[in-house]
Amino acid sequence: MSEKIKVNDLRSAIKLLRNISEQIIETDVEVDPHGELSGVYRHIGAGGTVARPTKEGPAMIFKNVKGHPDAEVLIGLLASRKRVGYLLDCPPEELGKKIYHSVENPIPPVVTEKSAPCQEIIHRASDEDFDLYKLIPAPTNTLHDAGPYITLGMCYATHPDTGKSDVTIHRLCIQGKDELSIFFTPGARHIGAMAERAEELNEKLPISISIGVDPAIEIGSCFEPPTTPLGYDELAVAGALRGEPVELCRCLTVNERAIANAEYVIEGEVIPHVRVKEDKNSGTGFAMPEFPGYTGPASSDCWLIKVKAVTHRKNPIMQTCIGPSEEHVSMAGIPTEASIYGMIEKAMPGKLKNVYCSSAGGGKYMAVLQFCKKTASDEGRQRQAALLAFSAFSELKHIFIVDEDVDCFDMNDVLWAMNTRFQGDMDIVTIQGVRCHPLDPSNDPLYSSSIKDHGIACKTILTVQFLFI
Ligand code: MN
Repeated sequence: MSEKIKVNDLRSAIKLLRNISEQIIETDVEVDPHGELSGVYRHIGAGGTVARPTKEGPAMIFKNVKGHPDAEVLIGLLASRKRVGYLLDCPPEELGKKIYHSVENPIPPVVTEKSAPCQEIIHRASDEDFDLYKLIPAPTNTLHDAGPYITLGMCYATHPDTGKSDVTIHRLCIQGKDELSIFFTPGARHIGAMAERAEELNEKLPISISIGVDPAIEIGSCFEPPTTPLGYDELAVAGALRGEPVELCRCLTVNERAIANAEYVIEGEVIPHVRVKEDKNSGTGFAMPEFPGYTGPASSDCWLIKVKAVTHRKNPIMQTCIGPSEEHVSMAGIPTEASIYGMIEKAMPGKLKNVYCSSAGGGKYMAVLQFCKKTASDEGRQRQAALLAFSAFSELKHIFIVDEDVDCFDMNDVLWAMNTRFQGDMDIVTIQGVRCHPLDPSNDPLYSSSIKDHGIACKTILTVQFLFI
């Protein structure tokens, strides 16, 4: 690289990657966002539409998108841990620790009164020709999907009681010319809690959806409680990662703010007391390919967003990802590593050398802890560390604990250790009946009578270490 490129938006991120070999490929060949774009990308980049999420590849820019002559579509930006390292200027194995320090030293966003790049072009829902299907080149990833999905929309809203804001990624499906469905994992996410409170007050919840932003925001927005509790604005993590605050602009049609240098912003309101069937237009029963490697079911009770405006840059770049992918592993896994590292480091400093939330678990279901035992009294503390990891991230299901000499980022190394430092009858701890993740199909009463409800799992600790004697 000749010059150091400072990344603070999507275009500078793309510019940085163009200077590094094999990180991004671009095509002028026409592609249909309906069922074709993701079908091309599955052979290039991360896994595929419903294949297991274990393949790394370059990001891809489609410059000729059918029906959207002024726009481009980018997919797979974060579908490689190495690439995330380039984009965040950090060695890949240090990403979890670096982001943990950003959570601990947040730099809150600021509102700018300057004219915002994301508002170069303005379309209001009151315009006669307003049509989300034409304005947003959102891919329909498979022909079974409920519809076109916005998979990388940074949803930003403010709690009606506290005035505190939150950024989270939710799956958003275009349902009509000015309507989106938004899926809230029941009881889990902060914007869901805001929408529920607004509904109690019989109020609409203003929301902005910023698409195509600095990748530091995409990683930061994937933090979950308890690391970032209700009231923690995760844009402050991105601010800390960059050493300067994220700039927000005021929305034009709702009382909320959006990310000023985004490629697109959708402004709207979450409507109280209304729910929509996610597949009401397709009737397929499916939502879209989800991160565990299966096509997810359509929800029967998504919330509805009435869109008031779409603003965008000139020649906007639509950014998208596909559920089963290394991109999801980066976005979910690296913040989870940061959360686990933070929790264990606070409780037992210096004991956790590193942690990896592996591709095989989509970044959520599996973690490998590299735990140092120095004295006989450390024996057993590695399992205490595993219990802390479960507390750090509620959707974690399987934990491998390995010794310092085992590379926690290499699952082959982990399984090698399992063959020589592990006995199944004594090195497995199981914790039954804990709510885990609804998209794991084995978390179901049909699988085992010990499971009382869908989404409940048996969490397991596998101690793959030499005994300290
Ligand atoms: Mn939050």
